[in-house]
Amino acid sequence: MDSIQVSSLWRNSATSPHGSGRGIDIIRVYRGNEVAYFNNENGQTQTAFIREVYNQFVGDNRVSQALGPWEFYGYSSRPERHPNLWRQQNLKSGDYYNHRHHLHITIR
Ligand SMILES: [Zn+2]
Repeated sequence: MDSIQVSSLWRNSATSPHGSGRGIDIIRVYRGNEVAYFNNENGQTQTAFIREVYNQFVGDNRVSQALGPWEFYGYSSRPERHPNLWRQQNLKSGDYYNHRHHLHITIR
């Protein structure tokens, strides 16, 4: 990766890892001419580069959660890697819906 665009780091929150400074919200990752946009609000598909970036976070033992538009890993009520279900379940609120337009990473 060459650079990462984030939308949130620490913020005052009693209910998310951002409150303890362990949360990173990522909207884009750049490598050379490639861009990974972590957003599927309009049905965008998960590209190979997006999957590669996601795999890197899931495989990093400093990372406990990777909650993104296409996949969830380390989610408290369902920790195994599984699809973000917001589109197929037509959700309008909740954790799946709230991660449709960024990738949340939690550092252990
Ligand atoms: Zn977050």
